[in-house]
Amino acid sequence: SAKSGGRGAYRFFEPEFDELMHARRNLERDMRDALVGRQFELHYQPFVSAATGETCGFEALLRWHHPQRGLVLPGEFIPLAEETGLIVPLGEWVLRTACAEAATWPTSVRIAVNLSPAQFRSKELVPVIVGALASSGLAPHRLELEVTETVIMHDCEAVFAVLAQLRELGVQIALDDFGTGYSSLSFLQRFPFDKVKIDRSFVDELSGVRAEARHLARAVVRFAGSLGKTTTAEGVETKEQLDILREEGCIETQGYYFSRPMPASDIARMLRRDEAAVRAA
Ligand code: C2E
Ligand code: MG
Ligand code: MG
Ligand code: MG
Repeated sequence: SAKSGGRGAYRFFEPEFDELMHARRNLERDMRDALVGRQFELHYQPFVSAATGETCGFEALLRWHHPQRGLVLPGEFIPLAEETGLIVPLGEWVLRTACAEAATWPTSVRIAVNLSPAQFRSKELVPVIVGALASSGLAPHRLELEVTETVIMHDCEAVFAVLAQLRELGVQIALDDFGTGYSSLSFLQRFPFDKVKIDRSFVDELSGVRAEARHLARAVVRFAGSLGKTTTAEGVETKEQLDILREEGCIETQGYYFSRPMPASDIARMLRRDEAAVRAA
């Protein structure tokens, strides 16, 4: 493929417009087949208490096992799924699968599911979530919905109304990727959420020698705290980052330092091991 030559290894012809459209149509067709052919899978990445290291929950992350291309990550297909509306049935599958899986975990463990702006525009979102909770038997407070600020770019009032309905159900709302885009502290004040997730790009900058990044993390944690909201830092890769976040009062942390996203079967095994450890203690 064009990519295998490595970036800048040699020049390619600029793809023609119809060639791009052709690739898009193929991807779209493959995605539709994938939903029917059960090629999608959820992996789960834990988020843990910064203070105790206990597992608080898992974020569901979509994976596509493409018959020819192998493992495809969401960055490669979510944007087109969004544009074509396929994210609506795909997102419903994610919600139902994630809730059903989480219902088998200890009741102290939550599940976080990412939502796209198109799902908010579909009008089906609230009934789909009610359905996923009802059919799985999962308690609403164990479900966290992760949304980025891009959800409010279209119809702010309508989205705020849906978010309010969801919180009324007892579901938690997490503002994902905070610190990217236009997010500001004043935005946090207006947005109806329960948790803010500090973006990986912030966490990347955290180290003993970078005081500014630490001050930014502190400001977000304190401001969220003053509003009665909780904070998660994503993309924690080092002990040093974890130590700084803990010192600054961040409540939960998530990242490769603890674990990569894993298949459901690994989670079940991990939780059984944790339970055994608790019983033995
Ligand atoms: P996100 O929700 O911000 O998820 C975090 C991403 O960072 C995940 O990438 C995760 O694998 C990765 N990550 C976690 N810890 C680390 C770390 O320590 N270092 C680094 N370098 N990366 C880390 P992934 O799975 O490729 O997902 C990318 C994005 O795709 C997600 O960003 C989310 O916006 C979207 N996405 C994933 N699953 C779904 C889904 O079911 N529905 C929707 N609408 N979007 C999804
Ligand atoms: Mg997320
Ligand atoms: Mg995120
Ligand atoms: Mg992110």
